[in-house]
Amino acid sequence: MSRFLDVLAEAERFHGHLCPGLIIGVRMGLAALKLLKSSRSKDEEVVAIVENDSCAVDGIQVVVGASLGKGNLFVEKYGKMAATFYLRETGEAYRLLLTQDGGNRLFSSLSEAGFFSQDEGAGRKALEVLENIGDDDLFKVQRVIIKAPPQAQIRKSVVCDECGEPTMETLTLEINGKRLCIPCATKKRYYEPLV
Ligand SMILES: [Zn+2]
Ligand SMILES: [Zn+2]
Repeated sequence: MSRFLDVLAEAERFHGHLCPGLIIGVRMGLAALKLLKSSRSKDEEVVAIVENDSCAVDGIQVVVGASLGKGNLFVEKYGKMAATFYLRETGEAYRLLLTQDGGNRLFSSLSEAGFFSQDEGAGRKALEVLENIGDDDLFKVQRVIIKAPPQAQIRKSVVCDECGEPTMETLTLEINGKRLCIPCATKKRYYEPLV
């Protein structure tokens, strides 16, 4: 339990608040590392492919050491409380899904124990009920096969002939003899400069 609480505290610092989604992500990440007999990735030893963009993802990131910046976190927006964890070294992968029963049990246990009360101390004390809920009570686990996710690579930058901004070479296009970034090539960008 203390390891769980330690890592949950770390996840809370990263996420900004303590919520059921974060708890689910932390439990899912810990269960996955146990299945893969691995520990938190320093680099990209373990890859996580998450199936939603909820609070749980932040729990997974902290526990597993998967992040956008390291390139070992991928998002498939299926809207499911599920994720697959892949160990590069062995090619092993497990998909974990929070079952409906598991979710109900987690919420009702936390709620009965006072997790949602206004009293913060009582809310934290309620986390003890999680000790009585096993990984099997929460998750359906499938052994799966996935295509090895691409490894992060450092690519060189080139300067866009139109806007003059350094851009990763592989994300530029050659149009009429000019090397252009995507916004210049497509004439579409998500922002408009004020001046
Ligand atoms: Zn949250
Ligand atoms: Zn450009």
